[in-house]
Parts: sequence; structure tokens; C-alpha cells
Amino acid sequence: MEGEEEYRRVLRLLEEHHKFMSRSIPLIASENVVSEAVREAVASDLMSRYAEGWPGERVYAGCKYIDQIELIAIELGKKLLGAEHVDVRPIAGVTANLAAYTAFTEPGDTVISLAIPNGGHITYGKKELGGTAGAVRGLVVENFPFNAEEMNIDADGTRKLVEKLKKEGRKPRVVIFGGSLFLFPHPVKELSDYLKSEGISIMYDGAHVLGLIAGGQFQRPLEEGADVLTGSTHKTLPGPQGGVIASFEKYSERLKAAVFPSNVSNHHLHHVAGKAIAFAEMIAFGKEYAAAVTRNAKALAEGLASRGFKVLGEKNGYTKSHQVVFEAWQYGGGGVVEKLLEEQNIIVNRNLIPGDIKAGRHFKNPGGIRVGVQEVTRLGMGKDEMDEIAEFIYRAVVKGEQVKDKVEELRSRFDTVKYAFESTRKAYEFIKIIQPQS
Ligand SMILES: *Cc1c(COP(=O)(O)O)cnc(C)c1O
Repeated sequence: MEGEEEYRRVLRLLEEHHKFMSRSIPLIASENVVSEAVREAVASDLMSRYAEGWPGERVYAGCKYIDQIELIAIELGKKLLGAEHVDVRPIAGVTANLAAYTAFTEPGDTVISLAIPNGGHITYGKKELGGTAGAVRGLVVENFPFNAEEMNIDADGTRKLVEKLKKEGRKPRVVIFGGSLFLFPHPVKELSDYLKSEGISIMYDGAHVLGLIAGGQFQRPLEEGADVLTGSTHKTLPGPQGGVIASFEKYSERLKAAVFPSNVSNHHLHHVAGKAIAFAEMIAFGKEYAAAVTRNAKALAEGLASRGFKVLGEKNGYTKSHQVVFEAWQYGGGGVVEKLLEEQNIIVNRNLIPGDIKAGRHFKNPGGIRVGVQEVTRLGMGKDEMDEIAEFIYRAVVKGEQVKDKVEELRSRFDTVKYAFESTRKAYEFIKIIQPQS
């Protein structure tokens, strides 16, 4: 029948992908591996349903179980993030940021955020760059002054920038902390009294570090003065793809309306169930997991630095998050190194780093490689394995050696999901719903 060939092919490719994952060292800083229970939720009938709106105030009938699940997710989210208000409906981190912009800004307002080479995300980008803040919400984006040696926002410089913008009659409406290249906690505490005294709202985009925040291993933005915390639920927080917003009761009505109807109609109910399960896992195992993640990141950074790699953030001990960033321009550039490592089944991503734009490098072959250790930590790896990984990267990148067999051997020793209530299968096992026909 027409279509059947492609149908079979897609099913085969899915299986191939799972095999590839089970032989690789996954080091993409924005990814993770979910538990069997999260996979169960995401594969459930909830993927076919409509709810729209808030639990108890739905637009659609048939939500009696869905409502209970969403309320559990909300309650657990509040506990994990220290929030009075949590919304699990944003279908992505981008959607969560758009909802925060909708609630706290008007088009034409000025905001301050990190430039992309300094760690900013496309959602805070200027209009010229097609960034969500500029091109979608119509915000005028100014960039934080950044100290590349500290690998952090310059707090004094930020105060000066706000004063300058005030003189120009365009006082920022919101200051957006957070980023995609994110090694050290941002100076929220240092700036929050000043920003509040100026009537400037504080947003914190915790997409990357949400699992570390929840596990008590990173700054707690809402306790340091942020008005709203947004994030993704699938990076260091090991849940299904999605977004979340956390804030205070006083902002709850406008934030709720900014999500529905402004930025989602139906939300992804199977992912809400997955979020509830991932949050429960974080309540139970999050402290231990987040501590292991930050320990491993530091160990990997030290392993790379001791082998001669130029690891960013040296002055402050390389990292306090799940990320390690090293210079790759010496080895042909981030794009080249990313490809070379992928051939050895080590999956990392290229990244713009401070100084790249000045040096004429761009995102296709930028100056850096960013790695994250959250996923290998969830597979149970520890400090010794971080040193092994540093050695593999060194041998592949600097010596040009083949390490694929050794990579697969290491991976085969770490093949179940840890920090979960139940783990009965291999981490990347392809679970077939379709029974073989015979
Ligand atoms: C990943 C990321 C996002 C967007 O999240 P998605 O879930 O991919 O939509 C937003 N902000 C930052 C800082 C990110 O790194």
C-alpha cells in the first residue's frame, strides 16, 4: 500500500536511533534521559486529548483524571522551585519565555539580556537576529556587559547600563537573567534591590539549570529576588520536553492568562503527566542527583584542563553547573570537533563563546564546544568515568585516534537510568508497542 514503505522505514529508523544512543556517550548540555515511568506517561492516551485552560476550569470535557495529574504536577513544582504559583502548561521553554514577556512587557519596551556569544538564548535575541524577544514580542534588546574572565554578567556595568538607558528615556522594563552557556550563578541577589527600586521586573530563565535549582545545587532565583522563573523540563530536570513557569501568587492571574489563551491553546497533556513524574523523582532523588552532576562537571573540566584543553571559567574553578565549555578553534573549530567526536559516538555540541564574533567566527563553526554531564550522571557515571571521557576526547581531538570501541565499552557498563523509582530496562531500550506479526 502507498505509504507503507515509509511507515516501515520510520519504525526501523526509530529502532536504529535507540541502538545508536545505547552505544554513545551523550553530552549535549540541553538533553537528558527520562525514566521508564516518564516514557509510559508520554506514550499514554493523554497525547490524544484536549483540555485547554486551568484544572477545574477546562474548555473541554473528559478531564477528570487529567485535572488531578496536572494539580499534582503543580504542587510538586511549587515545592521544588520554592514558588507560590506554578504553571506546567507551556509546551516548551520558548513558550514559557514568551508567556513571561506577554505578562511583563509591552511591545516596544526595552529589556536587558545576555548576548548569544556570551551565553544568551535565541529567545532573548534582537529583532535583527530573529530572536523571540525582538522579532516576536517587539522588544528592544540591550545586552548585559559581560566579563569573559569571570564568565559572568558584570553587575556594576549593568547598573551603569540601566542608568544610561534611563537618561535616554528608555528605562528597561525587564532584566532577563539566565542563559544557554551557563557556568556560574548570575548576580541576581546583587542586583535585585536596585532593579526593584527602579521598578524593573526580574525574569530568570532557568531552562538549563532547572534540575540543579530543584536539587539545591544552584542559586534559588525566586528567593534571590526574581519575579518570575521560566524553564525547560528536559535539560538538567530529567523530564519530557516542555516548559514551566514559577512565580508568586500576586502575578498568578496575569501569568495564567499569558499562557492560555495567549501562547497555547491546548497544552500537551501527556507531557504534563511526564512532568509530574519527573518532579516526583526530583523530590525523592533530586538532591543526590544534582550534587553528583555538579561534582562530575568539575571533574570533567579538570580532566580536560589537565590534558591541555583551554577550559573556560578557569578563574572560578571552571564550573558550578552541569556544563563544561572548552575552546575548539585551535582544533579546527567547534563544528569540526563536534563532527569528529560524533564519529567516535561522543555527542557534544558546538557553541559560540565570548570573543567569537570579534574573531570572525559564527555559529556554523564557532570557537567552542559545550558539554553537559547531567545525562551521563543519570546513567550512574562518577568522577572516574569523567576522567575516562576526558581522555577519550583528548585522544580523538588532539591525537586523532579511534576511540569508538572504548566509548561503547564504557557505555555498556552504565546502561540503566538512576535516580528513578523504578528502572527495570536498559536506558535506551526501544520499547515496542506493536507486536511482531507472524
Ligand atoms: C533551551 C533554552 C530555552 C528554550 O527551551 P526549549 O524547551 O528548547 O523551547 C530557553 N532558554 C534557554 C536559556 C535555553 O537554553
